Amino acid sequence: MGDNRERLDVAAPASLRTPLRLPHKALMGAGPVNADPRVLLAGSLPILGHMHPETIAVMDEIKEGLQYAFQTKNPVTLCLSCAGHGGMEASLSNVLEPGDVAVIAVSGLWGHRAADMATRHGARVVLLETPLGQPVSLEAAEEALAKHRPRLLFLVQCESSTSALQPLEGFGPLCHRYGALLVVDAVASLGGAPLWTDRWELDVVYTGSQKALNAPPGLAPITFSPRAMQRIEARKKPCSVYYWDVRVLGDYWGCFGRPRIYHHTCPITLFLALREALAIFASESLTATWRRHADAAQRLYDGLDRLGLGLSLFVEDPRHRTPTLTAVKVPPSVDPASVLRTAISRHGVEIGGGLGPTAGRIFRIGLFGVHANPMTVDMVLRVLEDSIKNPISVSKL
Ligand SMILES: *Cc1c(COP(=O)(O)O)cnc(C)c1O
Repeated sequence: MGDNRERLDVAAPASLRTPLRLPHKALMGAGPVNADPRVLLAGSLPILGHMHPETIAVMDEIKEGLQYAFQTKNPVTLCLSCAGHGGMEASLSNVLEPGDVAVIAVSGLWGHRAADMATRHGARVVLLETPLGQPVSLEAAEEALAKHRPRLLFLVQCESSTSALQPLEGFGPLCHRYGALLVVDAVASLGGAPLWTDRWELDVVYTGSQKALNAPPGLAPITFSPRAMQRIEARKKPCSVYYWDVRVLGDYWGCFGRPRIYHHTCPITLFLALREALAIFASESLTATWRRHADAAQRLYDGLDRLGLGLSLFVEDPRHRTPTLTAVKVPPSVDPASVLRTAISRHGVEIGGGLGPTAGRIFRIGLFGVHANPMTVDMVLRVLEDSIKNPISVSKL
């Protein structure tokens, strides 16, 4: 015992002998997004146990903050301990049973990913495709609901691979007329674009902590309507993944008025940071937050126009643009990779490239939360202008 000269099979790595150093970057792509110092500071507070009264109190505060952000009175509103993808997986795996039909709107990357997950959970998937940058209409949704009688309709509020905004009003009552539930991915929009869970009769809505809420990545806030819970209670078999099962997880979050149970060890550090992000979020009224995002996006559109570099927006109809994220078409003579590298290496500003079907075709500028302000918009416009006019050639990097 204790022979510290014993030869190890793997030596302590030299790379870990120096302390961690990181540059500061302005994260202005599709997320994650910079967090307020108050949020980062909360992440440095002491670790607490997952059932400690202080932890439970923080969870209750997070729940209230999320009910505000989602505009819902749903008792089953909580955080999954995972990235936004987990929100997608939990929504689908709780609602769907093998053999169910899921109608999934596809107009970019995210619908395909949801379709992949729904298929893995045994559903029969029907894709409701629209051209890139264009949302699904109520008429097209009704046709699909009437024809396929699905268990659910899946919509993405902000399709972040194109920056298109899917209108949601009217879809909830429509789904309910056909006995379907409406599941909404609001990862790239919640907190920046208006969303009314109760008013619009949305059944399951999830988001990610790292986008407009400006908290660190790693948590997926989610809410289930009473109608969704009824459906989940009526399942023949429980959700096939214990970790996602909201009937069990809801007991950890105190959603059903029963004693709390240990479901998993919560990432308390992330909870503390999200609690502070939600506190900042709630201190500005939600309507003021939405207005600030809309104003910032408009300032960006106007500024892009004024640059005169032939930059046009990917989403043509102004009603279908999300204020949180703006996709700009890459002009024919411009090499997108060298522009993005110039922005990050010369200016420390991360702008996003395309994603999935838009790879190489667009720039994506995120104005999530802290970045939705006139000064930051003007800054990113200057960075984009310089990076297009004076790009560092990629071979020099
Ligand atoms: C970012 C994003 C996700 C995935 O979030 P992760 O935290 O990366 O898993 C899902 N949907 C949309 C629309 C997104 O923009």
